[in-house]
Formats: sequence, C-alpha cells, structure tokens
Amino acid sequence: MQEEVIRSEKMKIVGDMAASVAHEIRNPLTTVRGFIELLGTANLSQQKKDFYKQISLEELDRAQLIITDYLALAKPDPETVENIDLNEEVRYLSNVLLTYANYNNIQIKENVAAEQPLLVAGDRYKFRQAMINIGKNAIEAMPGGGVLEIRSDKTHDELLIRISDNGCGMTQEQIRRLGTPYYSTKEKGTGLGTMVSFGIIKKMNGKIDIQSKVGAGTTFQFSFAKDAKGMEAVSRRVGMIREKSQ
Ligand code: ADP
Ligand code: MG
Repeated sequence: MQEEVIRSEKMKIVGDMAASVAHEIRNPLTTVRGFIELLGTANLSQQKKDFYKQISLEELDRAQLIITDYLALAKPDPETVENIDLNEEVRYLSNVLLTYANYNNIQIKENVAAEQPLLVAGDRYKFRQAMINIGKNAIEAMPGGGVLEIRSDKTHDELLIRISDNGCGMTQEQIRRLGTPYYSTKEKGTGLGTMVSFGIIKKMNGKIDIQSKVGAGTTFQFSFAKDAKGMEAVSRRVGMIREKSQ
C-alpha cells in the first residue's frame, strides 16, 4: 500500500513535468509556424527571408535542446535495473563528450580508480543521460577552454564518480538553486539538465556533493553505498513491478 502511494506520487511529479515541458516546446513551435507563414508573403526581401529563417532555426534548436535535457524523465520508472560499472562509465562519458570538448578547446582527463569493476545498480541509459548533462555543463562553464576531469573512485564504504572543471564556478546562492526547474544563467539554457540528473541519481539512492569556487571551478561528486545486498533488493522490486504490469 505504502509503495503504491509512493509510486503514484512519482507518476504525478513526472506528469506535471511533462505538462510544463510540453508548454516549453509549444512556444518555439508556435514561433516557427508564424515565420513559415510569413515566408509565404508576397514581395519579401531576401534580408527578411534570411532573418525569418535564422530565427526559425534557432527556435527549433531550442526545442531540440529541451527535449534532449528532458529525455531521461520521459520514461517514468526504471524498467531495467542492471549493474553499471563506474569505470566503464568514465570511459563512455569521455568518448561521448570528446567532440564537444574539442570544439570548445577543452582537454579531457580520464581517471579510472581500480582494475576491478565498480558496480552500482540502476538504469544504464538514464545514468548516462545524467552524467552527460553534468559533463555538458562542465564544458559550458569553460568558454575559454580548460580541463575536464572525469574519474571513478572508491572509499571503504562508497563507490563514486566525479566530474570536475576549472571553469567559472558558482556562488553559494547559485549552488543552492541547482536542480530547480528552469534555473539557467545561459542565454540559450533550458534549466532542466541538472534537475533531470539529480532526479536520476536520487532514484539510484546516490548522494550528490558539489564543491565550487567562483573563477576556479566546480566538482560534482556522485556516490553510492557499497552494499552487496543492494542489487538483490533492487531486482526484487523490479520483479514486483513486472508482475503488476502483466
Ligand atoms: P542549463 O545548462 O540549460 O543552463 P542546467 O540545469 O544544466 O541548465 O544548469 C543550470 C545552471 O547551473 C547553469 O545555467 C549554470 O549557471 C549552473 N551550472 C551547472 N553546472 C555548472 C558548472 N559546472 N559550472 C558553473 N556553473 C554551472
Ligand atoms: Mg545544462
């Protein structure tokens, strides 16, 4: 019974989010529609045509960004819970971000803690989405180039992944607002990336630590309890969800 309540509460949050994201996407679509109609006007100067075209493309890019940042939430509950090796994820993330980093004059440093896998339980697809959002922010925080460091590590009771940049950094107030919907300091930001990422990590029972200094850089650390029973408990829960949906 208790679980049913929690699940329906989760669905409500996801539903509310979907509604507000739909609203955010409708705006650029309406704009683009308007400009396409205008393009049909007789005797339009080439300058005007170029202008309408440029705005339309920018608006479509914005819709695309919103969808990308939000993607991971669209699947309401994890269907698949698998073993995710944090070492492997460090390599995956640096590969995925490589082009974007190169383009921005940023060097990626990869650091893998141990030879043996560092396993945590979760939906790999969502976890990757979470890390990509954080990694993209780190790159965007270094407009003049810099170093992005991605590392996995373990302590006596935790497994962790850490994403550091030597970019613009944040004030206490900015750190506090991280993860709240639509908070963005970027001209073309969606303010959805960190919110989606934090949601995914929390669902995995992960802990989020942020260290930042204005002008020096930022480190995001995500840590997970080393718990041999964790995987067993999770697969039992998945079993229950599967039974219900049959
Ligand atoms: P967006 O990237 O679209 O602005 P996010 O939710 O991904 O939205 O990030 C929200 C805000 O948090 C960013 O606009 C930025 O101000 C701040 N931020 C996030 N990561 C960093 C970082 N590594 N360094 C500095 N600021 C950051
Ligand atoms: Mg972002």
